[in-house]
Amino acid sequence: MKNLILLLGFLIVSNNHITSSPISASVSIGIFGDKYQGDIKLTKVQEDILLNSSGNQSVKTGWTWEGFRWHKNSNGLVIVPYTINNDQEFAEREIEIVEKELTIIEHATCIRFVKRKDEEDYVEIINGNGCWSWLGRIGGRQELSLDRNGCLQQGITIHEFIHALGYDHMHNHFYRDDYVKIHWENIAPENYANFDRVDPQWFDNFGTPYDLMSVMHYPRWAFSFNGEDAIEPFDSNYIDKIGSPYLSTDDALRLNRMYNCY
Ligand SMILES: [Zn+2]
Repeated sequence: MKNLILLLGFLIVSNNHITSSPISASVSIGIFGDKYQGDIKLTKVQEDILLNSSGNQSVKTGWTWEGFRWHKNSNGLVIVPYTINNDQEFAEREIEIVEKELTIIEHATCIRFVKRKDEEDYVEIINGNGCWSWLGRIGGRQELSLDRNGCLQQGITIHEFIHALGYDHMHNHFYRDDYVKIHWENIAPENYANFDRVDPQWFDNFGTPYDLMSVMHYPRWAFSFNGEDAIEPFDSNYIDKIGSPYLSTDDALRLNRMYNCY
């Protein structure tokens, strides 16, 4: 089974959102696989940290460990070299989708995605099985999968690249139970781990509040086995808004703070 769930719906876009185009159409996002929190690959070191540690209680979802961040150049721009695997037959139109999404992050932050020349550390976009990424800069070549069959939809490139920049999911935030109800009865036990709360020792929200409009928040049906809600915001106004495919203002702010863009 493809590790994707297509979520179609109309979203109302508020001023809180940074997007490159007027939005009134259906959108989709879905990245629900069999990896850490669904779509994240971890190095051995990260696994040891995240799966074996027990933490204090705080509000954190972005790597506090600077060793997993990308480097700044002398102009203060964070450079993320990337390549697109040409052997995997991405259509020109698909490459344009990816590049447009990367531009959205660039316009809101000091992060710049550049075509790799000979940089040692870089992201290689592959047409893999599902949509997924490693977490932060892991060193050397690191793959980021955008399955042509489902991942080239609005928001997914942004979502996966934010993993590559070092963020995990908003709904794995340690205090998420103050903002959303997880309906365990609608989630198969083998998928419970996707709703673990992260050890706050390693992740930080960088001074921003819980963000129901984050592109890193899964939608209401994520990992539901019966079509009923798996995630329900306590503020019912957000029930159809979680799972947003748009970079939120606070998504950008968190990246800017994590990378000291100011
Ligand atoms: Zn994800």
